Amino acid sequence: MAGLKQDAFEVARRKLVDDLKLRGYLKSQAIERAMLSVPRELFVPEGVRDRAYEDRPLPIGYGQTISAPSMVAYMTELLEVSEGMKVLEVGTGSGYQAAILAMIVGDRGHVWTVERIAELASRAKETIESLGLGGRVTVIVGDGSLGYPPAAPYDRIIVTAASPKVPRPLVEQLAEGGLMVIPVGSKEEQVLTIVRKREGQVFQQSDIEVLFVPLVGAEAWDH
Ligand code: SAM
Repeated sequence: MAGLKQDAFEVARRKLVDDLKLRGYLKSQAIERAMLSVPRELFVPEGVRDRAYEDRPLPIGYGQTISAPSMVAYMTELLEVSEGMKVLEVGTGSGYQAAILAMIVGDRGHVWTVERIAELASRAKETIESLGLGGRVTVIVGDGSLGYPPAAPYDRIIVTAASPKVPRPLVEQLAEGGLMVIPVGSKEEQVLTIVRKREGQVFQQSDIEVLFVPLVGAEAWDH
């Protein structure tokens, strides 16, 4: 029975990935491989496991969500992440996005992911470790609007919660030639914003409109 269920998840995962490719969210082979190998059903609570391959955000407890797979694919494409890179994620949530990034950066790279809700961070860490990806991911409990200075600078920074502005510490912790993707705006709507650092200068570019849960911290919303 368990095997049958497993097969069904694998079929649903393949179908979702094909659909994301058709709809233009997923383009690169590295991200396709990562999304095919990370089981999203393990990152959601049992009660919603049967909906793991619907293209929508799902509740993960504590008022938070795992982002829709199309959003994960789209933001990862924007991030231009590749093997060997050092990546900071702000907003670990379920740990799914961190696991996708870990698949792409490989053993030569590393992902640091910061979550303010300790219970979510420890569940994410457990799931990531159960997939054998623990050596590539460090889960930190804290305020990610301040970044994570001990491992800076980062080649890539991805923020998966909505911020009223681009937090200054994140810009400071971005490596020269680095790139950050962050939803910026009000609590009701945001614009995915791409921040690049080139020769010490910072360039910002707006992409699509999105809706994320708020980034709550010293350099973002206060509640
Ligand atoms: N990337 C996640 C995943 O793959 O499941 C989804 C992230 S969820 C949309 C946003 C997360 O950001 C929530 O878990 C929330 O608790 C967290 N968060 C909000 N403010 C934060 C902060 N200042 N530092 C770290 N995490 C924060």
